[in-house]
Amino acid sequence: MGDALNAALSRLDDAAELLKLDPAIHQRLRRPRRVLEVSVPVRMDDGSIEVFTGWRVHHNTASGPGKGGIRFHQDVDADEVTALAVGMTFKNAVLGLPFGGAKGGVRCDPTTMSNAELERLTRRYTWEILPLLGPDRDIPAPDVNTDAQVMSWIMDTVSMSTDQATPAVVTGKPLLLGGSKGHVGATSSGVVICIRALFQELGLPVAGSRVVIQGFGKVGGPLAFLLHSAGMRVVAVSDVLGATVNPGGLDPIALANHVKETGTVAGFGGGDAIGRDKIWDIETEVVVPAALEGAIDVDVARRLRTRAIVEAANGPTLPEADPILHDRGIVTVPDILANAGGVTASYFEWVQNRAGYAWEEPLVAERLRTRMEESFHAVWARAVELDVSLRRAAFVVGVERVAETMAARGMYP
Ligand code: NAD
Repeated sequence: MGDALNAALSRLDDAAELLKLDPAIHQRLRRPRRVLEVSVPVRMDDGSIEVFTGWRVHHNTASGPGKGGIRFHQDVDADEVTALAVGMTFKNAVLGLPFGGAKGGVRCDPTTMSNAELERLTRRYTWEILPLLGPDRDIPAPDVNTDAQVMSWIMDTVSMSTDQATPAVVTGKPLLLGGSKGHVGATSSGVVICIRALFQELGLPVAGSRVVIQGFGKVGGPLAFLLHSAGMRVVAVSDVLGATVNPGGLDPIALANHVKETGTVAGFGGGDAIGRDKIWDIETEVVVPAALEGAIDVDVARRLRTRAIVEAANGPTLPEADPILHDRGIVTVPDILANAGGVTASYFEWVQNRAGYAWEEPLVAERLRTRMEESFHAVWARAVELDVSLRRAAFVVGVERVAETMAARGMYP
């Protein structure tokens, strides 16, 4: 079993123990409802045929249709997709969204493929997983290396194959095809909402406090700008090629321009260059991992000089690092809460598509804030009540809600 799946199941097991969960429900939650593996033959631009492998996993659909992104990456496998689907089940439950947990992926390296090859790959993969898809069955969204264009191709393939315009089958679409205002940047906005709520609980001021961000992509980039606008000092930012530090605070707009020109934060004139892994040694109030899985291992957990971690990335902290952070008094807002702004905005997009009526941006922002704050406070209260970390409390809240739904539905047949 892969590390990511082991980590997801160990956190489920821990919540089951804290809740004294019905063993039958626990056993059902330990296994995905269905795993579809498909082969995806694609005609490449040179005329040759390459056969890729793809998956779509429904972990649990008690609370509603499956919801979760599609990832194109050379390391994707069934276990990773299943682990991410497990995470989606409990993330949706923590936010109180009427969705189950799903995830998909194709094992490929999209950086070596042309746009036309990617379109053919997306359409054939969509065709192969079509029996699972639908606004009431399963609604994909973007994830690593997939974007609004990929969602458009999926929406078109489903719509053409059924001869029915079906915008509600995917979220994260362009506005033109039924995307929602406020969807772009919603994950970063959700992280900011969590930081504000956390700082209030910790008695820390937002303005003037320091933040270190790992990753400057779709989440980390807008996040640096939003936190700077909120008055925080973004003292260091890293990406895969390097890092930049400025104790007085980096200018995120100038940094974004530098990244646009050079493709990396390394060499930014408004800061000093440091090794990308040196960011963990910087004294700060909050650290936001917004890059890859497994960034905070035991070594990093021991080195960090921060009051808090807010997990924008999925799975950035290894399970072995959790107790070290807890013992050191470093409060961690877990991924299934902290980065849920994206799926919450996806829920709003799905609702708008089904109603055939688009919301204005302030309404999206207000509803995102309310739902994220309510979820944060539910998890915080549970952590206080049980005297456990926010991660353990978030899993308790999520597992409990799904288990109650499963119990209410009973088991078919
Ligand atoms: P992205 O590909 O746009 O950006 C990733 C960034 O991380 C890049 O700047 C890259 O250079 C950097 N990076 C990669 N390896 C690194 C390393 N070793 N050290 C430092 N930086 C490194 O991806 P994204 O969409 O911003 O997603 C980032 C994380 O957030 C992922 O874990 C993703 O699953 C999660 N997430 C994203 C969304 C979303 O809306 N995009 C929603 C929920 C969760």
